[in-house]
Amino acid sequence: MIERSQALAALAQDEFDVVVIGGGITGAGVALDAATRGYSVALLEGADFASGTSSRSSKLVHGGLRYLQNFDLGLVREALLERQLMVALAPHLVRPLPLVVPAFEGAHPDRMVGVGLNLYDVMSVDRDRLRSRRGRRSRAGVSAERRSPGRASGEQGIQARAVEGSESWSPERHRMISGEEVLELLPAFSRSSIGREPTSGYLFYDCQTDDVRLVLTVLGEAERFGAVCANRLHVSGLLEQEGRTRGVRALDTESGAELEVRAANVINATGVWADRLRPGELRDEAEMPRIRPSRGTHVILSHEDLPLVGGAIVPAGSGRSIFALPWLGRTLVGTTDNDYDGELAHVRPSSEDVDYLLQAVNDFFGATLDPGDLVGAFAGVRPLISTGDPKKSVDISRKAELYETSSGMITITGGKLTTWRRMAKMTVDRLVERDARDAPCRTHEIPLGQAIAADDLPRVEGVPAESYSALAARYGDAAHQVLALAGERGELAQPIVPGLPDLLAEVVLAARSEQARSIGDVLLRRTRLGLLAARELGGVGGPIDRTADVLARELGWSEERAGLEIERFAAEAQAEGILSA
Ligand SMILES: Cc1cc2nc3c(=O)[nH]c(=O)nc-3n(C[C@H](O)[C@H](O)[C@H](O)COP(=O)(O)OP(=O)(O)OC[C@H]3O[C@@H](n4cnc5c(N)ncnc54)[C@H](O)[C@@H]3O)c2cc1C
Repeated sequence: MIERSQALAALAQDEFDVVVIGGGITGAGVALDAATRGYSVALLEGADFASGTSSRSSKLVHGGLRYLQNFDLGLVREALLERQLMVALAPHLVRPLPLVVPAFEGAHPDRMVGVGLNLYDVMSVDRDRLRSRRGRRSRAGVSAERRSPGRASGEQGIQARAVEGSESWSPERHRMISGEEVLELLPAFSRSSIGREPTSGYLFYDCQTDDVRLVLTVLGEAERFGAVCANRLHVSGLLEQEGRTRGVRALDTESGAELEVRAANVINATGVWADRLRPGELRDEAEMPRIRPSRGTHVILSHEDLPLVGGAIVPAGSGRSIFALPWLGRTLVGTTDNDYDGELAHVRPSSEDVDYLLQAVNDFFGATLDPGDLVGAFAGVRPLISTGDPKKSVDISRKAELYETSSGMITITGGKLTTWRRMAKMTVDRLVERDARDAPCRTHEIPLGQAIAADDLPRVEGVPAESYSALAARYGDAAHQVLALAGERGELAQPIVPGLPDLLAEVVLAARSEQARSIGDVLLRRTRLGLLAARELGGVGGPIDRTADVLARELGWSEERAGLEIERFAAEAQAEGILSA
């Protein structure tokens, strides 16, 4: 991405076709879609990119098996098709994950789950679109030349087999597996203190990602098509002229300066904050969504404490279920789903939620985990749209909705991480229709980043062996830049947290190319160390200090400022409850 100072200069000077408010996955998607259709685009993020809900998901790119229970077939089908497309467009970032529904003591796995999985299989394949996409790609090759064929992610095991030739990835049909196979995928059962052993199970596939990296990658692509994006620009009001929105007024929260960004169209993609930006000319309340936030908590455990190779669907009482998933070398457990009326900027996991999640995994796996075993925890709020009808369930409002005010501002909210591209398309289609332009959506054929095999990366002295696959998965081809930095300055080849693959060179890249401005930007989002190793960050000369040192050099912080930033991170971590114990 371009430097923030350059972005600020362009935002102040230029007049844009579209200004997007919000740098989560929805805003990033709208910026990419609009830029690829020829609009000039500005994107303003009030805090940090993906710092809202888009860093706090379950990291699944999935249809959502449980929505089948509500017969929400359209939503599931749409998400399944997007899942397939995402693996093709970003094979390094969106990877197939085996998931298991085990059965015990010789019982047959739940037949209703089998029925649901059958439906899931049928709905997940869109052969027509696959065929037509291949045809279009070979004819037009929009940016496809950027990705060399056959260089898709080269990880081992099930994932590699599925990703190879990812243009045509389609999940295997679900199937029954033996107790032994269940144990291979869910070795946590072999530790069961209550001697609970699975005797069979259903195996099926969904996909998994790092949500923040997905947002940053989409933003990077949007910039490649000319969009100008900057963080820490809080939109405080709308510029209006003769009843039409003509841009936004923003506060640069770093310098305190006010900024006006002029644009013919304003898109509000502020997620759970979407009902807060209101044009003066609002004629009808129905022109704006009513958001009903719902909090979801996740806890993270060490692989040693709850070893998983694939994911498990874990019953959690009252007909609910949660996921236990392998993620970035740890085990991610979540999520809860409760109405929330607290502060939105920092959402903490509640201790009741943590206890509920641990109780469910303890009961299921026969484990004895308590809050002291957590390596991290986080919570986020879903931007659910209230229908205004108290009798309608929360799930009904998981769809994305588009609103348009009489002043012309378009709000897009709701939906899922998985369906960001559809939400963006819906929004920009509306703009195109309004402008009577002929500009079809192209995002289904634009690769997101450039996948690379870890083995193709050059070896750099001092870089731990396990870092190469982590870098390839996180950055794709841009991993070369990280390794070049590590090659130039040997100290940057060191891990940020000893024993974990993230390198100090990534802190430099985050500051130079991803607009990271604080320790939290690096430890909570550009890397996920604040979630994966929350207890290991502190101490004199520890990861926080080392990150601060590298950022100080990059961003020109004085010693005093670096000290202040360390205090700010402590306050942020506290407010976020990243270690809820
Ligand atoms: C617990 C949980 C688990 C989930 N799991 C999954 C999953 O596994 N798979 C899936 O597909 N979906 C999942 N979701 C849903 C998904 O995460 C969200 O739908 C998605 O991230 C919403 O993205 P967004 O861009 O609309 O909102 P956000 O990511 O919240 O982005 C909105 C942005 O707008 C910014 N903003 C707000 N006000 C202003 C302003 N005035 N000026 C400038 N910027 C502003 C905010 O800072 C924020 O960054 C989950 C959600 C939750 C809560």
